[in-house]
Amino acid sequence: MDKNAQGEAATGSSADLFRNESEALERAKAISAAPDAQAEAYRDALGELIRHYERLMRETRRLIGRSDRAEREMQSLTQLLQHRATHDSLTGVFNRSAVIERAVKALRVDRAVMILLDIDEFKKINDDFGHPTGDAVILGIVNCLRETLGDQGILGRVGGEEFTVVLPGKSMADGLRMAENMRAAIANHTFGDPVNRRITASFGVSDNRAGTDFDAAYGLADSALYAAKRSGRDRVAFFEGAKVEG
Ligand code: GH3
Ligand code: MG
Ligand code: MG
Repeated sequence: MDKNAQGEAATGSSADLFRNESEALERAKAISAAPDAQAEAYRDALGELIRHYERLMRETRRLIGRSDRAEREMQSLTQLLQHRATHDSLTGVFNRSAVIERAVKALRVDRAVMILLDIDEFKKINDDFGHPTGDAVILGIVNCLRETLGDQGILGRVGGEEFTVVLPGKSMADGLRMAENMRAAIANHTFGDPVNRRITASFGVSDNRAGTDFDAAYGLADSALYAAKRSGRDRVAFFEGAKVEG
């Protein structure tokens, strides 16, 4: 597109956007309508049309390429925004609202086990080694959780050092096995310098029928987690019927 046409397009006036092309077209039409036109005049008009036609094709190809690139950029930007809106920036696992949304959906269609876990005496890690080391410990724990969970459920960070695991379609026995494996993975993990100490987490598990309200499922697991903390930490407690087993 020539500078003149670009300038007019930029100001929103499309009246003369194709002025050169229109003039060439008018000249060609006039030649075509003139019964006594000479061959040379035909050749000139056709040559002019060919030049404009080729230029328009080049421009169109360039614009299509540009719009394809813009569309690809928009798609990757949308994906990035979606990921940021649903994932925790420190650990990369689902954030609170995303894990709740998935748990609500899972409970609507099937039974599901809910596991809540909270790192034991984590405040002391921050106090002794500083916040960045605390963050590194959280990352180490999330790795343990991810490796143990594999593709069997959904993992999300619901608070600073609190996580939720949802196991759609699983029984209490499955949930307790998973929570115990996660507990052991964390307790046996070597955190290295400067921590060099055993770090543990406590777990609360609830087994929920299809159709259970999310708050009810979460509340039961939270009560069990509280019982695990009260009875000494580094353990799995579960809520069955009216009583909590630690
Ligand atoms: P308990 O065994 O009863 O759970 O004790 P706790 O010390 O783990 O529990 P408490 O709730 O008192 O402390 C949690 C601490 O976690 C307090 C807060 O400063 C820290 N914390 C929360 N989010 C983050 C985070 O993103 N990074 C770091 N480094 N620390 C965090
Ligand atoms: Mg906590
Ligand atoms: Mg804690």
